[in-house]
Amino acid sequence: MSTVLQLKKVIKSYGGAPALDAVDFSLPDNAYIALLGPSGSGKTTLLRVIAGFEEPDSGSILFHGKRLDGVEPHDRGIGFVFQNFALFPHLSVAENVGFGLRNRKVDPVTDTRVLATRVQDMLALVGLKGFEDRAVTQISGGQRQRVALARTLVTEPKMVLLDEPLGALDANLRSRMRSELKAIRERCGVTFLHVTGSESEALAMGDLVLVLDRGRIAQAAASDIVYNSPATAAVAGFLNCYNLFAGSVVEDVFVGPAGRFPLNTSRRKAPQPAYAIRYDRVSIRPREASLSPDEVRIEGDFIASEYSGAAVNSFFALDGGHVFEVESHLSHARPPVFIEKHRYALVWKKEDALVFG
Ligand code: ADP
Ligand code: MG
Repeated sequence: MSTVLQLKKVIKSYGGAPALDAVDFSLPDNAYIALLGPSGSGKTTLLRVIAGFEEPDSGSILFHGKRLDGVEPHDRGIGFVFQNFALFPHLSVAENVGFGLRNRKVDPVTDTRVLATRVQDMLALVGLKGFEDRAVTQISGGQRQRVALARTLVTEPKMVLLDEPLGALDANLRSRMRSELKAIRERCGVTFLHVTGSESEALAMGDLVLVLDRGRIAQAAASDIVYNSPATAAVAGFLNCYNLFAGSVVEDVFVGPAGRFPLNTSRRKAPQPAYAIRYDRVSIRPREASLSPDEVRIEGDFIASEYSGAAVNSFFALDGGHVFEVESHLSHARPPVFIEKHRYALVWKKEDALVFG
């Protein structure tokens, strides 16, 4: 696969604080890329630097192998879909979509017939045929999202940046638009770089997932690799499916405030030692149940459960205040019943833990 975009040690600071701290990555052409990171990790800054709305302090950005330094945003061939859609409320759907073409500095489309055809093609692409004359104030959130996308795609960008494109939609629509966006991208055949704070959205949508942690790329890998093998404890934390403990490794034991966990697993190099166990790798047993040599246990007081149909998530208070989460898959079974404030053993296999440090 050929590379569409490459960033080399891109740094961008605001008032001395780095928002992007030597960002390095390459993106393949014709792919859906998800960029996951918590609020404040630098996602929007990264998109703005790629689009040319912000100048990096240092480093370089190559687009199809050519440096973008000094190239105006309009001339980069990179489209941008803003978080709040940024549509013109006084213009119709078709006028919003056509706007991008009419106002191009280079090669504006002034022939109204050509313009109308291009707008029609784009509305068909995003599934909005027949909505040409509607006011953008009189369509749904999902439809506004499509108008914003069509307005970007009509300029035939060679890559599209989307800043939390589903963030403004309600939950039902958000999950439907996931597959819509993927399908639209496949039809136009260019790379989409989709920024999100939602781990499930990133894992579901990305052919490749980049994880941004405090202005640095902590991991760039396929969804299943990020999920099963997070590169750092911070990445494991963003995924919302690991119990994480700080502490230190002493010989073959991880020692932390929550307890001592004997190790039988390889360690990942990391500056901060941490121990991670996935919610769904833990079983809940009576305190008196016996333990096999390949298992680790701690004890916790049951707080509450959340039933979600296919699974039930249970929360336990550990000594020292840490809340520990267990996900039990149900497959036809009724959810187990635990007694509030009762103490249980929480058990997992040594080899299922991830150890950093
Ligand atoms: P995200 O989109 O992941 O939430 P941002 O890229 O918006 O993160 O912000 C990253 C960091 O840079 C934050 O600490 C933010 O406060 C800071 N920052 C972003 N834009 C500006 C700006 N224009 N001026 C000053 N600080 C900024
Ligand atoms: Mg942002």
